Amino acid sequence: MKVVIIGASFAGVSAALAIRKKHPEAEVFLMDKQQTIGYLPGGINLYFNETIKPIETARFISEQELVDHGLTLLLNAEVVSIDATQHIINYEKEALESFISFDKLILATGSSQWSQNILGSDSDKVLKYKFLPGVLQAIEQLENSRKVALIGGGQIGAEAADTLLKKGKEVHLFERMDYLLFKYFDEEMIQPVQAEMVARGVVFHFDETVEKITDVDEGLLIETKKSQLVCDSAIFAMNVRPDLGYLDEQVRTHTDGTIFVNEYLETSQVDIFAIGDCIQVPYSLSNESFYIPLVNNAVRSGLVVAQNLVEPTMPFVGSIRTIGTKLVDHYVASTGLTEAEGSFYEQPISVAHVQQKSSLFSGGETISGKIIFEKESHKLLGAQLVSKADILEKINTLALGIQAGQTLEEFYQKDFLYHPYYSNVIDITNQLAFEGLWSEADEN
Ligand code: FAD
Repeated sequence: MKVVIIGASFAGVSAALAIRKKHPEAEVFLMDKQQTIGYLPGGINLYFNETIKPIETARFISEQELVDHGLTLLLNAEVVSIDATQHIINYEKEALESFISFDKLILATGSSQWSQNILGSDSDKVLKYKFLPGVLQAIEQLENSRKVALIGGGQIGAEAADTLLKKGKEVHLFERMDYLLFKYFDEEMIQPVQAEMVARGVVFHFDETVEKITDVDEGLLIETKKSQLVCDSAIFAMNVRPDLGYLDEQVRTHTDGTIFVNEYLETSQVDIFAIGDCIQVPYSLSNESFYIPLVNNAVRSGLVVAQNLVEPTMPFVGSIRTIGTKLVDHYVASTGLTEAEGSFYEQPISVAHVQQKSSLFSGGETISGKIIFEKESHKLLGAQLVSKADILEKINTLALGIQAGQTLEEFYQKDFLYHPYYSNVIDITNQLAFEGLWSEADEN
């Protein structure tokens, strides 16, 4: 079996390694248009925070490690077209056109940062740093910038704000919604982080959609309906999108440009699969699929596709959008449905809040938690945690409870570790479910 994977990033690499295990006899080709693969998209923050140096080391795997696993790499090779019926891929390498055939093809070409809606967003001064060439340019330009505009208040924009504050830059953040990280947090949960950012100098431009960016002598002119700002450079911190110009039109796509796949990650064409950022993923809390570009989805879809290559046996469970990061000394983490999204949910929901010390003695920072659940059945739907203590791992427990369809009653009596120094007498995750139950009882 000859398997070709286009795209050697999180999804493609995870699929390649899993296929190597599952089908040791298969020939596995991993193609990418870049020469250097495995770069970590958030690496620029680690670089500026002096966690890693040089930036080239911000990688999760090297070419040599992949070769050592018996994979054949075809790098610096840009796929320009595929013939889904004849099973032929046409690619360009060093200006030469070549072809490669396949028995099974996995499309893992991910996404890139571009927008058709913001005029001028393709300017060189509008920094995009998902891949290494972009990050090298961004580092140089940011070092020489005093005033930086961030376009987007999601995870990329929020992390960039934190990093640039530490670098002493003047930071302006534009966001079309009215608060930071709105996809993941309800406003009251993220408010302390936002207030701390303002105290440290971030100027928020909420409810403002950037419409146009123009290169001017002084730098860049950013325009929204409400304001104009001249800055030295800007960071394009918005949603990424698939870029599928190479795709055979026989491969069905959604209107948002993602590739259509069934639950086994098969495209509309036999023997062709798609994974990672170029597909929508099923949202585990409804029957719909959404575009949720996250590393965790890319890696898990890569693991699942390996199981389905020969026979469709393992459906992809999808995502509940679990994230976590650290911003202005606060650890923030979220999974599942937010309360704000509750109005779109098919059943009535309820929420409960908890504030508790992270541990009795070691540090003892306060953790603010919120749980979202179905009012009738008490099924867990979402959770958010914010603290100066490192609570990031705790969100994975809550995510597992939600994925497993647990109720408040089941979750509040789950096992947890107790230690007199490192933990509290009841874990915040259990306490959240307990409070959820009693908030309901008190109401009744
Ligand atoms: P990608 O990483 O997009 O990789 C696709 C690969 O395909 C690339 O190597 C590309 O060169 C190659 N390719 C594309 N077209 C062709 C072609 N025609 N021929 C050959 N090769 C091709 N997610 C998180 O979960 N946590 C984070 O902290 C996080 N931080 C991020 C920070 C930034 C700045 C950005 C932009 C994104 C971040 N993300 C984060 C999102 C995350 O990067 C993506 O979800 C993830 O990279 C998707 O992996 P993928 O393998 O599907 O695709």
